[in-house]
Amino acid sequence: MPDDQIRTGRCNCGAVTFRTRGELREIVACHCSQCRRQTGLYYAATNVGDENIEIEGAENITWYHASDFARRGFCATCGSALFWKHQSDPFISVLAGAFDEPSGLTMTKHIFCADKGDFYEIGDGLPQYAKGSAGLLVAE
Ligand SMILES: [Zn+2]
Ligand SMILES: [Zn+2]
Repeated sequence: MPDDQIRTGRCNCGAVTFRTRGELREIVACHCSQCRRQTGLYYAATNVGDENIEIEGAENITWYHASDFARRGFCATCGSALFWKHQSDPFISVLAGAFDEPSGLTMTKHIFCADKGDFYEIGDGLPQYAKGSAGLLVAE
């Protein structure tokens, strides 16, 4: 995958659009209670350096400060969950489902499985972690 690869994405209503550049992290699914409540299921996101994403319509994003170190961005009009941003780290998590297809992205693991909803099972054979996994910051 070439480093200059461009991907685009948007919220449901189109008020917020974005472009990413370069190779993106694999998709990680977070099953924590915050992600469950925000999405109704679980959060599946990649990660991109702040310098490799351009966001248009940023004024349409509502930032919910879910913890003292991170905030969750969603479209103020249509409610699409879009971003998760750590206070001090120079990257931003972007929801996999917001990308235009084909995304070229692949999900590789599940985290915070101990907190997942009791109404579904994870059956895709990917690694499952009860809490976070090494090198991953998650919203809790
Ligand atoms: Zn929207
Ligand atoms: Zn989570």
